[in-house]
This record gives sequence, structure tokens and C-alpha cells, in this order.
Amino acid sequence: MEKIDHVAIAGAGVGGLALALGLYRAGIRVSVFEKYSTPQKHNTGFTLWSYSVRRLADFGFGPDQMEEVGASIEYTEIRNQSGRIISKMPVGEVSRSLGSESYEVRRADLLQKIEDQLPEGTVRRGLACTHAETENDRAFLELENAERIEADLVIGADGIHSALREVIAGPTPLHESGYLGCSALCEIPETALPKNTHIDIWGRGGKAGISEVSPGLARWYLTWKAKKDAERQTKTQLLAAYADWGDLITRAIEATVEADIVHHTYADISAIPTWHRGRVALLGDAAHATTPFAAMGANMAIEDASVLVEALTENHRVGDALAIFEDSRKKRTEDVVVKGRRMSRLTQLHSPFAAWLRDQAFLHMPAEDTERVTREMASGEG
Ligand SMILES: Cc1cc2nc3c(=O)[nH]c(=O)nc-3n(C[C@H](O)[C@H](O)[C@H](O)COP(=O)(O)OP(=O)(O)OC[C@H]3O[C@@H](n4cnc5c(N)ncnc54)[C@H](O)[C@@H]3O)c2cc1C
Repeated sequence: MEKIDHVAIAGAGVGGLALALGLYRAGIRVSVFEKYSTPQKHNTGFTLWSYSVRRLADFGFGPDQMEEVGASIEYTEIRNQSGRIISKMPVGEVSRSLGSESYEVRRADLLQKIEDQLPEGTVRRGLACTHAETENDRAFLELENAERIEADLVIGADGIHSALREVIAGPTPLHESGYLGCSALCEIPETALPKNTHIDIWGRGGKAGISEVSPGLARWYLTWKAKKDAERQTKTQLLAAYADWGDLITRAIEATVEADIVHHTYADISAIPTWHRGRVALLGDAAHATTPFAAMGANMAIEDASVLVEALTENHRVGDALAIFEDSRKKRTEDVVVKGRRMSRLTQLHSPFAAWLRDQAFLHMPAEDTERVTREMASGEG
């Protein structure tokens, strides 16, 4: 049996902080190093499905905390560009049957609340991690200020542009989706949006979405086809481009301060040969970055954290624990990356005829199939 005293984590995103919380609850000391000096507002929010919410609850981040950082989802409505509801997914009912609600979450608040549960000083900001290696059965994490942190294990939870992935897998090209997008939080009258409903709009050549993340506050997002270096769309351009996507989207863009609009380039990575080398391993987007089109990246990062904590606390040697972790997560997460590519095509079909056929198929989907798809999402088994 090998005792783990200290784990150093690169990246204070959702994966890094979930892992830090899980390890801390298991009695293991953690140090997290984050390159930005202040918490980032990027990725304004996301959907956390029942299965990852349950994992957070196992780490002591329960329903009360979730209610403070988001709103539970009763339905996901899929609408077409003309505003017609083509599918209504019973997310609340299915999620509760799995043991926990699913939530629409404000990212910055979720991260802050998790960090608040860690001992003071656990997260050190403004320090980019540059390298990690194993030497004489110890792990070392190097920081941009030339500090060298010694630990039993180093985890790279440093996102899609991971510096530590390079150490483990060499240079990994990003696979550009061909879509750009933007998202924001905005104030919106409580009566403007259906309560506890995530609205996903599948258009022609792009998609959009909006949902309440707390009373009077909405998260919205838009995507469109463009080269990755295309110019950012201004608020005026967005209003013109999405003028026929329904009132809700127009209202949300209008209600948003231009400087609060966050711009995104959507990319993923193809499978890399391994997630660990010696005492350095990857987790979350660093290991299996996906586009948001399958709405799973944050969920998978939390699930990774949970599986890794379990493996590390079951008295395995570190190398064996990392192998168990990788075996149980790699194939599953790589399948989701591929699914994200499929969802990108399906939800943003360019041809009006193909989009019409898609809408018809969803309109006439039997209720039990809608329930099955909802269950797959909420349970993380889709
Ligand atoms: C618009 C949008 C909508 C999305 N919607 C959903 C959704 O509905 N559901 C879902 O599950 N997922 C969604 N995602 C995906 C989700 O945001 C990511 O998959 C998730 O954030 C990955 O978590 P992570 O911790 O692995 O990486 P990140 O959240 O990217 O965190 C990585 C952290 O590491 C830091 N970092 C980077 N490099 C270094 C370094 N060298 N040294 C130290 N720190 C470093 C970064 O600053 C960051 O804080 C969405 C993404 C976008 C852009």
C-alpha cells in the first residue's frame, strides 16, 4: 500500500477544483496552481447533468450549494429557428429518478463556491504551470516563476490548451469545428423565460440557447459557421444576424452589455495515446477536450475527478491507480468527443430541407424515445 500525502494540480477550472475537493475530503493535501490571477468569467455557464451533480454531492457539495450557483432544470425544450418546440425533454423527472436534479449553472459562482470549501491558500493564482516530470518516484510541477513543486502526483487539469498534455502526449493539434460563438449572462425579467427550462434552438447553419440561471438572470449562447480567425461579431451585428431567431434571443442580446459578451472558438482534440506518464496525469479537457455541442465537457471533468479520487483512495500504487482511472474513462470520453462532432452537424444543419427533415423527426419522436435520450444525457451513459 502506498500513502499519498500531496497532489499538485495545474488549473483551477471545474475539473481541477472538483478533484481538489474530492481529494481534500479524502484527507489528501492538495495544491492548485492557476495561470490567471483573477477568476475567469469565460464560459459563462453550463449544464450539469444529474450524474455529475451526484458526484459533487459525494464530495460534500450538495443540493443546497447547487441551488446557490444555478437553477434546476425541469425541461429542455428544443426549438427550431422559427420558435416551434420540436422536442421537450423531461429532464427534471428523469434526473430525480436518477437520484439528483440537473442544473443550469453559473460557472464563476460554481468555481468560487467549490474553492470556498477548500482550506485557505489551496489555490494559488497568477502562476502558469510550464512542465511536469517524475524523478526518483516523486512528481514535480514547474511553474513560470521557476518554482518546482514536489508532490506524490501531479495532475494536469489545465484545459484544452494544456501545457502538461505536451509532456505526456507531445504536441496535439486542435481539431477546429468550423464554428465560432459567443455567450453571456444578462439580466432579464423573471416573466420573460419559462421557469427551470433550458431552451436550445437548432437553426440552419448555427444554434442558440437561453435559460435562467437564477431569478432574473439568464445565460445565452450563439454559434455560427466561420473560420477560426474571422472577426468577432459586434452586438449590432449579432442583433441583425439573429433577428429571425425569436424574441427571446433578441431580448437577451439587447439586455447584454457589449463588453460582457464572451467570444469562443470551438475545437476539440482527437484521442491521444495515453493520459499518464510516471506520476503525471491528465484530466478533463486536458485529456479529452470536446466542443460544447454534446454539453458534456464539464460533466466529464467532474466524473473524471470522481473516478480518480476513488482509484487513488483504494490503496493502489499510484501507477496502478492512474491505469485504472484511464481504463475506466478514456474510451467513454473519446466517444463523447466524436458524439460532439455529430451533434455539431445535427444541430446546425445548413440545408433548409435537411433542417426541415430533422425537425420533423424530432416532432414525431415517440415519448419513450425522448425519455430514453434524456436518460442517456442525465445519466452520462449516452
Ligand atoms: C460556450 C460553452 C458552453 C459549454 N457548455 C457546456 C455544458 O452545457 N455542459 C458541459 O458539461 N460542458 C460545457 N462546456 C464545456 C466545459 O466548459 C469544459 O469542458 C470544461 O470547462 C472543462 O473543464 P476543465 O477543468 O477540464 O478545463 P477548464 O474549465 O478549461 O479549466 C482549465 C483551467 O486551467 C487553467 N490553465 C490553463 N493553462 C494553465 C497553465 N499552463 N497553468 C495553470 N493553469 C492553467 C485555465 O485558466 C482554467 O482555469 C461549454 C463550453 C463552452 C465554451
